[in-house]
Amino acid sequence: MCGDIMLEKLSIVVPCFNEEKMVPCFYQETLIYIKELAINYEIIFVNDGSSDNTWNEIIKLNTLDNNIRAINFSRNFGKEAAMLAGIRSAKGDYVVVMDCDLQHPPYLLPKMYYLLKKEAYDAVGAYRLGRTNNKRNESFLRILYAKIFYKFINKMSNINIKTNATDYRMMKRRVVNALLEINEYNRFSKGLFEWVGFRTTYVGYEDVKRTQGKSSWSFIKLLNYALEGITSFSTVPLKLSGLLGLLCASMSFLYMAYVIIDRIFRGTEVSGWATTVSLILFLGGIMLISLGLLGEYIGRIYNEVKKRPLYIIDEIINNEEDQDDK
Ligand code: UDP
Ligand code: MG
Repeated sequence: MCGDIMLEKLSIVVPCFNEEKMVPCFYQETLIYIKELAINYEIIFVNDGSSDNTWNEIIKLNTLDNNIRAINFSRNFGKEAAMLAGIRSAKGDYVVVMDCDLQHPPYLLPKMYYLLKKEAYDAVGAYRLGRTNNKRNESFLRILYAKIFYKFINKMSNINIKTNATDYRMMKRRVVNALLEINEYNRFSKGLFEWVGFRTTYVGYEDVKRTQGKSSWSFIKLLNYALEGITSFSTVPLKLSGLLGLLCASMSFLYMAYVIIDRIFRGTEVSGWATTVSLILFLGGIMLISLGLLGEYIGRIYNEVKKRPLYIIDEIINNEEDQDDK
């Protein structure tokens, strides 16, 4: 075991939500590529309040392989919370975050590790090579929304997220430490990964179809996720609503001047019930949208101020600290 002390360690963080079928497949498949690396490893499964047998599957694996550690949440707190819990407890010199459903292909692990180790990058992110083969059967609308989202967030903020970037990313310890210094409640990891900076490169991969289980992202969840991203990294929408107000006010001022002049010089009768109603509705709509927008930011401030923990842990298995105590 003496040689082991010299080896560096790779921590693999895996958020799991209702993945009973995928947990063993993930382990088998990923292990093949970890073995190629000749490195110490730990796999940290974070069970995000699954309602199926995921936790038992993880415990089973733990009895087979002592490098497996596991965190069980008291309920479902979402993938962002699960990733954070895993990253916090990771002890490796390198940390990689991966989905449990094998849609983040493990064959990229050696390549990512090589880029960090030999090419002196600090982080390697994976992105999906186009969505053309559409192995995920995504609807046309979902692909379109994703496109708009990346364009919008990159234009509106001072970070640059790679189009079709994923949360699949391997990082050196210093990047992980920087990430852990961010104490935000509303976490949008894809943005935070970029925000911390460091020398980063990307590798692309062809989309992989989920073999078991189903995606837990509904359209509403995705919309919320996009809003989270935009409000976390940009206040431009707030400025836009102010600009829109200014535009409307100037236009209505011009129109008012036109109506008065028309009445005085051409004696036109002021009519237009339809115009009045449309204008009221139009302005009312704009005001409500602006209020809603403001609400999005205020709601997030509210959550931020409450400072509730991002997740509650029910149980930890094979904690490093426990082993150090022994
Ligand atoms: N996940 C999670 N908590 C959730 C939803 C998802 O930990 O509330 C995990 C899930 O088990 C998977 C990863 O996050 O490992 C990605 O989820 P999913 O495959 O549903 O998303 P998609 O691939 O469709 O983006
Ligand atoms: Mg998936």
